[in-house]
Amino acid sequence: MQTAARQLCGGLLGNGARSHVPVLVGASRAASTTAATLPNGMPAEVTIYEVGPRDGLQNEAQTIPTEVKVRLIDMLTDAGIKAIEATSFVSPKWVPQLADAKQVIAAMRKAPGVQYPVLTPNLKGLQGALEAGCREVAVFAAASEAFSRRNINCSVAESLKRFEEVVVAARKEGVAVRGYVSCAVGCPYQGHVDPGAAADVGAALYGMGCYEVSMADTIGVGTPASMERMLQATMQQIPVSKLAVHCHDTYGMAIANIAASLRLGVAVVDSSVAGLGGCPYARGATGNVATEDVLYLLDGYGIRHGISMDAVLAASEYISGALGRPNGSRVAKALLARRAAEAEKEAKAQAKAAAAAKAEGAAVAA
Ligand SMILES: [Zn+2]
Repeated sequence: MQTAARQLCGGLLGNGARSHVPVLVGASRAASTTAATLPNGMPAEVTIYEVGPRDGLQNEAQTIPTEVKVRLIDMLTDAGIKAIEATSFVSPKWVPQLADAKQVIAAMRKAPGVQYPVLTPNLKGLQGALEAGCREVAVFAAASEAFSRRNINCSVAESLKRFEEVVVAARKEGVAVRGYVSCAVGCPYQGHVDPGAAADVGAALYGMGCYEVSMADTIGVGTPASMERMLQATMQQIPVSKLAVHCHDTYGMAIANIAASLRLGVAVVDSSVAGLGGCPYARGATGNVATEDVLYLLDGYGIRHGISMDAVLAASEYISGALGRPNGSRVAKALLARRAAEAEKEAKAQAKAAAAAKAEGAAVAA
């Protein structure tokens, strides 16, 4: 069970602007990326691909009610996020937390213009996703030989053959497929991952028909330097407009790694509301980079994202409360603390004004 859960970590990503006709969507996105670049070379607009409901919740030990997951997804939709990875169609034996995938898809609100991809690690998962009416799926492959052998008992090349079946079957149904490359900058077993090896796996996924490939630092060991090396190698094989990044924050480098990726022109960033999720590969590891933290970074650069920070904070507080744990986003904590202080100040000022008015009234009466 743990092994399977491991395979899933870092396997999800997506993009807001997708349509059911990936080729067309990719083309229009690429065009807008080229047209809209800031003077510093960063994209003028970034798509957030929210992975909290899937990557974030899949490792939760406590059972989370379906209605909590649905409400979280609905709140993220309300926040203006255009790509929300909703769940995973995977054997409940592997990931019991996501055994209610079908019910979640049936109950959540599907807003027009929003993509709700689901992870489908195999043909059976794809079948389930299709039956549930999903129009976008995601597959993942590891960049590390040691990881692949240890977790799915086959070489990277053999794993790609298996995923190709899923991609081909999905494309035949007109379903868009996103690819993830897990362990793209580091592996819990072999340590270093060659940038060229990560690039090759990404290129293989792209070549089999994935409309976008998310390069994942699954265990959060990357630095801006190793991210740059990996992305530069990958960009020799895949246009940057087809790339996303998926950073975990284990060593506190996720925001720096994303800034480095933006500098190279990457315009799709995976993130998880409230920083949900642990990483099963590394003890004490944190989850994905928090969506709130990425929004704050983007705002700082003046990069458009079309998402309401207030509404994300509401979703963030909701899920943190439902899970009974502190909010994992530093930005959320800071903003909420500031708001609480402002509210307190305001309440004190109002009480003072009310007391003064009362005293004045008393004086007039006297
Ligand atoms: Zn992940």
